[in-house]
Amino acid sequence: MKTCDIAIIGLGLMGSAALRELARRGADVLGFDPLAIGEARGSSHGSCRIFRRFNFESEAYTALSDRAFALWRALEAESHQTILMPSAILEAGPAGCPSVRKSRAAAVAAGGPITGPRTGREANAAYGAFNLPDDWDVVVHEAGGILLAERAMRALRAGVEHRVAREAAQIAPMPEGIRILTASGEVMARRVIVSAGPWIAGLVPGLTRHVKVTRQAVGWFAPARPETTRYGECPIFILKAARGMIYGFPDFEGRGVKAAQHDHGPAVGPDEWDPPVSDAELATTSAMLAELVPGAAGAITDREVCLYTNTAQADVVADDGGEFVIDRLPADPRIIVASPCSGHGAKFATAIGAMLADMALDPKVKAVAAFRLDRFSSFA
Ligand SMILES: Cc1cc2nc3c(=O)[nH]c(=O)nc-3n(C[C@H](O)[C@H](O)[C@H](O)COP(=O)(O)OP(=O)(O)OC[C@H]3O[C@@H](n4cnc5c(N)ncnc54)[C@H](O)[C@@H]3O)c2cc1C
Repeated sequence: MKTCDIAIIGLGLMGSAALRELARRGADVLGFDPLAIGEARGSSHGSCRIFRRFNFESEAYTALSDRAFALWRALEAESHQTILMPSAILEAGPAGCPSVRKSRAAAVAAGGPITGPRTGREANAAYGAFNLPDDWDVVVHEAGGILLAERAMRALRAGVEHRVAREAAQIAPMPEGIRILTASGEVMARRVIVSAGPWIAGLVPGLTRHVKVTRQAVGWFAPARPETTRYGECPIFILKAARGMIYGFPDFEGRGVKAAQHDHGPAVGPDEWDPPVSDAELATTSAMLAELVPGAAGAITDREVCLYTNTAQADVVADDGGEFVIDRLPADPRIIVASPCSGHGAKFATAIGAMLADMALDPKVKAVAAFRLDRFSSFA
């Protein structure tokens, strides 16, 4: 039987980053994934993702952002192309808005000076696209960016395609190794990284009750005032209002303003992609743009479905849910599980790839506490 030291099941941004990193370190590694780069399935497809240095989810993510940022820059240097376009990020919400407060606190904790608009009134004066209520809280971070997701994926996979089998795989742990079963045959691996995005519970059934896959509707809007939404003039924006949280990008690709709701859509299975995104699914995004970012509001010109894999709240330690899972399976530490989504994992992919490589190469490397599986009693 064919063998390899490390197999990676699932080559979205996470698995591809791990594959590249392991190959770079000289490991005997193979990756498995039935999808071609760019196919609109899973969570990593599409042109862009937001890179935030300061994360309202937790200030503990700043160090991971910084590590990822350095590695994105290294990937740009190696691939001779831009992968992360610098952009300011404006976050706003009603006075006292927790996400704005937490994001500002993360910047303060990292010693970052915050000099931009602090209220809705100041933001409206600084950026022509916006019409925020005057008394809203605002924080603007300069240390953000537009991660060119598909380009990043191609760069991560450059030079390692010969290690990729374009096939779905299943895993069967045996005493002598982990059998990787595909339609065309079997491979025996010493260790396995399972980074199968929304399909992960199918490979690691114990995760089923701790992850929820949701359908997220994304739209592109023809800006009413294009001169206000151009890249460089309009920041990335994340707006929290009573009816929901939306995010949007400046029109950096001449395709309109990409915007969507961050609130979870309906729960779906990983293979449920129909029907196409409807106007109704984009109604909250459209209404919030019309009210708060009128420069960007306009007809919907394009739409896309993407899946979030959301991690549940822990029951052994206190967390808010949405923390990633990146850990060895307690019952079989040869199997490393990576589910870093909850709608904000892409920006960390290079750092998570390096983390997965560390764990796969050295059994003594411990998982980051917040990402451990034993925060759930079923794995404790
Ligand atoms: C609408 C949307 C917006 C987002 N916005 C942001 C953002 O602004 N900033 C940010 O940082 N993050 C964002 N995210 C989150 C980010 O995109 C995800 O964290 C990231 O893409 C997860 O990548 P992944 O590799 O874990 O999963 P995926 O990209 O889903 O990859 C999993 C892969 O596993 C493969 N696979 C499944 N089963 C098998 C099998 N049996 N055998 C072999 N292969 C298999 C699949 O084919 C797939 O290619 C967003 C996500 C969505 C959906």
